[in-house]
Amino acid sequence: MEKLRLRFAPSPTGALHIGGVRTALYNYLLAKKHGGAFILRIEDTDQARFVPGAEAYIKEALEWFGLVPDEGPGYGGDHGPYRQSERKEQYRKYTTQLIESGRAYYAFDTPEELAAQREKEPNFKYDGRVRMQMKNSLTLSGEEVERALSEGVSYVIRLKAPENETVNFQDIVRGQVAFDSNELDDKVLLKADGMPTYHMANVVDDYLMEITHVIRGEEWLSSTAHHVLLYRSLGWESQMPAFAHLPLILRPDGKGKLSKRDGARFGFPVFPLAWKGKTEEDSFTGFREYGFLPDAAINFLALLGWNPGTEQELFSLDELVEAFSVERINKSGTRFDIDKAKWFNQQYIIKADAGDLLEKVRPIIAAHGYEPGDDFLLGFIGLMQERAITLDDFWENGYFFFEKPREYDTKVIQKRWDPERKGLFDELADQLDTLENYTADQIKAQTEAFINDKGLKFGEVLPMLRLGAAGTMKGPAIFEMMELLGKEETSRRLRQAFAFFDQIKLESN
Ligand code: GLU
Repeated sequence: MEKLRLRFAPSPTGALHIGGVRTALYNYLLAKKHGGAFILRIEDTDQARFVPGAEAYIKEALEWFGLVPDEGPGYGGDHGPYRQSERKEQYRKYTTQLIESGRAYYAFDTPEELAAQREKEPNFKYDGRVRMQMKNSLTLSGEEVERALSEGVSYVIRLKAPENETVNFQDIVRGQVAFDSNELDDKVLLKADGMPTYHMANVVDDYLMEITHVIRGEEWLSSTAHHVLLYRSLGWESQMPAFAHLPLILRPDGKGKLSKRDGARFGFPVFPLAWKGKTEEDSFTGFREYGFLPDAAINFLALLGWNPGTEQELFSLDELVEAFSVERINKSGTRFDIDKAKWFNQQYIIKADAGDLLEKVRPIIAAHGYEPGDDFLLGFIGLMQERAITLDDFWENGYFFFEKPREYDTKVIQKRWDPERKGLFDELADQLDTLENYTADQIKAQTEAFINDKGLKFGEVLPMLRLGAAGTMKGPAIFEMMELLGKEETSRRLRQAFAFFDQIKLESN
């Protein structure tokens, strides 16, 4: 089998939507499954929509997910350059070839003339039905065309859609797709600024870069008809790549396509990384900043439009490469379910090595002004990883490892604190202070001995220790937590808490 070559071809027009990451992922998976190449091509021919920083964002996002291109701008490769703005001669060369073979023509209609047409006819299409009434090299004489060109009259080059042909191709996801060529308009191939349009540049590059498979979003399905025409017109039909158009990612409520605004609307990220646009409206948070692990996000995205055909849900990137097949891409749209994404994240946090989480959790803690040593942080992560859904939860659910509890669950105090026993609790605190080795085992043994000795019940004592140390009943294993906090800090907290519990109880009586 020839070597597979797949490309991810985003336009640098802003932050890369999460749907774009899914497209990149499927291209990556198919390429890697067959030992092929995953190529990044930057489609930056639309100067009006070019946004500085977008290319860097795309690369950073791909790298964060581990989808590192084998070829692309900054990645090397012998089919470059990989930015379309650097490949202008190629597009010009092939549009000229199309003109010469009569498959394309010059069109001199001014934007005003075209606007006037659209005014008259809202559904105006520049196609086989109207082209002979327009100002182009098919209606003007050879001399007029020459003159216009030599005088520098502005023009575009259009593809001449053929009459009465069926334009068909086999889509891997959708099966046979056919278009009637009479319904296709004469797409602009080269714009007045000398830049190619998406269609022209995309086809020329897929050909020159020897792309074997095009996996892209469903929104490009109808463009494919023109692409097939271009392959035919350029005599490249036998080298046409296979196409697979991915199903839409739908809003959580199923009402239409997930848009970049939906993130703000539903309160979750729809971008891989945070993006700072010119306005507040154009700035977004990302999966990374939201506290997702890249592997978890990838796992979630992989299953958003593809199914392995088994019950397995957790896949590492390598396992995805192994399991992936384009035949199992779903036809219908899939809802974006952020709870499912969080579930994946939780699973990945639980099974991660504490050491691997160290550098991810450290900045979150540092953002709150704490810089614990590695040992403390590892212990903390080990205790909290069962309780975190996102990385931010390490702080949210475990801040009390770094500072005194901000509040105590007063309901528990009301229900369980018995002021008559304050003396007993202080005595327990005294006993724990005498421990030489302040380890979870020792603390536990001492506490149990105390409970038995005083004829108390575990349920009367442990919740108070937990509440005293952490302020909440939701903390991790109590003795491990005390060990990590250390003797001095725990003792101080317990004594202050017991006094405070008494006060609360007295005030409320
Ligand atoms: N530049 C197009 C985009 O932004 C590429 C579509 C394609 O893959 O052909 O999605």
